Amino acid sequence: MSKPSSPLTLLSIFCLLTSLLAPPALASGEVNIYSARKEDLIKPLLDDFSKQTGIKVNLVTGKEEALLQRLESEGMNTPADLLLTSDAGRLTAAQKAGVLQAVKSASLDQNIPAVYRDPAGYWYGLSVRARPILYAKDRVKPEQLSTYEALAALQWKGKLCLRSSDSVYNQSLVAGMIAHHGEAKTEAWAKGLVANFARPPKGGDRDQIKAVAAGECDLTLANTYYLGGMVSASDEAEKQAAAQIAVFWPDAKTTGVHVNVSGAGVTAHARQRDNAVKLLEFLASDAAQRWYAEVNNEYPVNPAIPPSAVLKSWGEFKADTLNVARLGQLNAAAVKLMDRAGWK
Ligand code: FE
Repeated sequence: MSKPSSPLTLLSIFCLLTSLLAPPALASGEVNIYSARKEDLIKPLLDDFSKQTGIKVNLVTGKEEALLQRLESEGMNTPADLLLTSDAGRLTAAQKAGVLQAVKSASLDQNIPAVYRDPAGYWYGLSVRARPILYAKDRVKPEQLSTYEALAALQWKGKLCLRSSDSVYNQSLVAGMIAHHGEAKTEAWAKGLVANFARPPKGGDRDQIKAVAAGECDLTLANTYYLGGMVSASDEAEKQAAAQIAVFWPDAKTTGVHVNVSGAGVTAHARQRDNAVKLLEFLASDAAQRWYAEVNNEYPVNPAIPPSAVLKSWGEFKADTLNVARLGQLNAAAVKLMDRAGWK
């Protein structure tokens, strides 16, 4: 509610005077973020940061691709100091577009394992997401499952629902396969997956999970926070769908489960670079990491912080140890390969 306008009080005169007398350094008391993370996934953390540091945070939220385009078109005139987005594929795309700058920080290096950050410091992972196999409990036995590779076997013909090749999540998964197995093997595998599709790819991760629950297919690949969100959803239909699904951690004996990050990088033309680095360090700190994990069911990037109860309930797994930056570097190769394989 806004206050009715009133004559200047002593307090507002005092505020006016102090603002007039304040040194030009006042501008350094702010930091501007472009965030592809939804406001409710980030705002309370930013408020904590402001309380602790006195630095005011200005938040602009938008879609991942739109924010990157905006940074590119604004160039040197961008007000943004920090870009928050999801997937190493997108973080690398931002780096390649020249809108990020390298940052060195002992505290970031300490809190964020090397595999979850860009080796040159252009971006840092702030949360980890895993993309395991999700299956229909009543139709698939976990003993039938083993690896991502095995999903291309004839036994799963007509049983697989997958999101389209436009999804950066699947592009990164395929990039990981290329890193481990090379292009030729990965292409043969992708063709096998396509041959097993129960339907042409459509919808997001949640839609794949719902399709498995509805019996359209038996298996899918999805990021676990979507299932976590459905398990605790207020929507009864989502909850019931999630109850029919179980998690299988593939490649336990080989390369491990495909993991990715959401993360952030300081913009190339940040005017408040130091504050942007401070905010980045805050987001990787213990308190912020704990909050991140609980609110969105992602894995904390900081290994000192335990995952949420719902994630723990799905058991431990071996994560792929590939530096996630490789997923971004191999993105273009992955996109072309999926196209050749007929993955719509
Ligand atoms: Fe997502």
